[in-house]
Amino acid sequence: MFLFVTGSPPLSSMALQQLRLDGALALLGESEVAALPAAHLNATAHLQGIVDGLCDLSQRDPLTGTANRRHFDTVLDRELDRVARSGDVALLLMIDIDHFKRVNDTYGHNIGDSVLQQVATALSHCVRPMDTLARYGGEEFAIVLPACQPAYGQNVADRVRRAIEALRIRINPSQEIGVTVSIGGAYALQWIRSTRELWIERADQQLYHSKSAGRNRIAIEQQP
Ligand code: GH3
Ligand code: MG
Ligand code: MG
Repeated sequence: MFLFVTGSPPLSSMALQQLRLDGALALLGESEVAALPAAHLNATAHLQGIVDGLCDLSQRDPLTGTANRRHFDTVLDRELDRVARSGDVALLLMIDIDHFKRVNDTYGHNIGDSVLQQVATALSHCVRPMDTLARYGGEEFAIVLPACQPAYGQNVADRVRRAIEALRIRINPSQEIGVTVSIGGAYALQWIRSTRELWIERADQQLYHSKSAGRNRIAIEQQP
């Protein structure tokens, strides 16, 4: 992808040198910087690579690499818009690790971080490429599933719950632990222009039901 439009001159490497890019390059990892097109060969492509890298960083949660809240909010808005116009079916799942405070209290915050990373990886294996997995808050994840028929929604939520229940998390060479998650789900209101706040609140209400029913459970709102 190139920054210049047809007719405008390409960026010269001299012009590139006038930009203060140290901060941006420091934010990108070593491997990303190494993968950039060489500045002296194609300054425009080099700069575009930096911009793309920064955009990607601004959309990810640094601990787990999943989408962050900012990116997830834009995905939710886009999905709500699509559902309002097309009447398609989209499901939002809110996923909260059960008794996570105990993990931190028992094994320490660093192990807690590692648990979050491993849960995120396991969750990412449960979804389709078209779905978006995000870290929504501390120990809470969310998934938006476009084009998700009710039978599939129940299946995928159950798959997620079982995958985490089965996950063995190695916390040191001689010890593994397990965690469970509670899940709440709600479908976007078809043909209705709703808000992301309402969608999240409805899924959160179901999550609350899963927690109060004993945790390691799923509750999905009946489609209105
Ligand atoms: P429940 O089953 O009701 O969800 O109980 P819980 O213990 O999971 O919930 P609670 O809200 O009491 O505690 C969440 C804990 O998650 C407390 C907080 O310190 C921890 N936490 C939040 N963000 C992070 C993080 O980035 N790393 C680590 N290690 N812990 C985190
Ligand atoms: Mg929790
Ligand atoms: Mg929580």
